[in-house]
Amino acid sequence: MIYLFLALALALWLMGRAMNVPRAARMLMIALLYAGFSALAVVTEGTENAREWLAVGIAAALVWVYSRALGRLRTRMGAEPQPQITPKDSSVELDRNARHIVLREIGGPGQKRLKNARVLVVGAGGLGSPALQYLAAAGIGTIGIIDHDVVDNSNLQRQVIHTDARIGMPKVFSAEQAIQAQNPFVAVRPYSRALTADIAPGLFDDYDLILDGTDDPDTRYLVNETAVRAKLPLISAAISQWEGQISIFDPSRDAPCYACVFPKAAAPGLAPSCAEGGVLGPLPGVLGTMMAVEAVKLLAGAGQPLLGRMLIYDALYAETRAITVNRRADCAVCGNASLA
Ligand SMILES: [Zn+2]
Repeated sequence: MIYLFLALALALWLMGRAMNVPRAARMLMIALLYAGFSALAVVTEGTENAREWLAVGIAAALVWVYSRALGRLRTRMGAEPQPQITPKDSSVELDRNARHIVLREIGGPGQKRLKNARVLVVGAGGLGSPALQYLAAAGIGTIGIIDHDVVDNSNLQRQVIHTDARIGMPKVFSAEQAIQAQNPFVAVRPYSRALTADIAPGLFDDYDLILDGTDDPDTRYLVNETAVRAKLPLISAAISQWEGQISIFDPSRDAPCYACVFPKAAAPGLAPSCAEGGVLGPLPGVLGTMMAVEAVKLLAGAGQPLLGRMLIYDALYAETRAITVNRRADCAVCGNASLA
């Protein structure tokens, strides 16, 4: 008789669930079934089975009380207000940047300059990923990102700002999500399009500093030309297989421009792309992070920026060297002839 009751109760419960009957109604049906069965058992079989029925009843009641308590606990945890950081909460922002503010070379005024700075990052790929993450974490107030690509599976070996779940999403929106999740105090401006000669001057006008992490030679020359015309410092890095290089180009501070150092694009085939030649995953992490380091130094006015020097990092042999790079009077972009 008990087994028949248990089987019927289970069938009722599952049928009720399949038909979307509320939990409480299913409970009530089973309770009624239990009452009917136990009464019938006592009447037909006498009191000898009463103890078994009582045990089943108590067990069911315990399960019910336990699940109710668990459910209530879950609701309460879900309903609890999450600590929301609003950009208005300046004490949170101050506390977040405290480790910068205690640095003598940055301090309160330096951090304020970072907050007021507008930085444009061209390319949200291997170099752009760590650069954007550290610029955001460092408290740069406004960050623009321009890129026309979508996140691809093969990017994720090194482009750490993107995630597996965001494959197929435009890179600028993926990066925007990551930045907002890390630091809601940052204003992000995503531009999901290619940088072209007709939009570059207007776009650059809205920024104080340009970071170039693209792998396309034409875009590099366009970024350089536009930055020179706008008299904006350009932090530029490049990577290939196991080696990377970085410098700050700015003829307005007597440093060379990109075209002074690389007058012509490498002949096709001489400089293999990441897809053709391969690239070490952490390498753009090193160079992209250095870009962020130089950006923070330049904006806060700390130390000696990488102007007039180019840092070269050879990951395979764990060697770095800095070479001096000079302006060229005959540079097609910033030379005497071009400015005349
Ligand atoms: Zn030049």
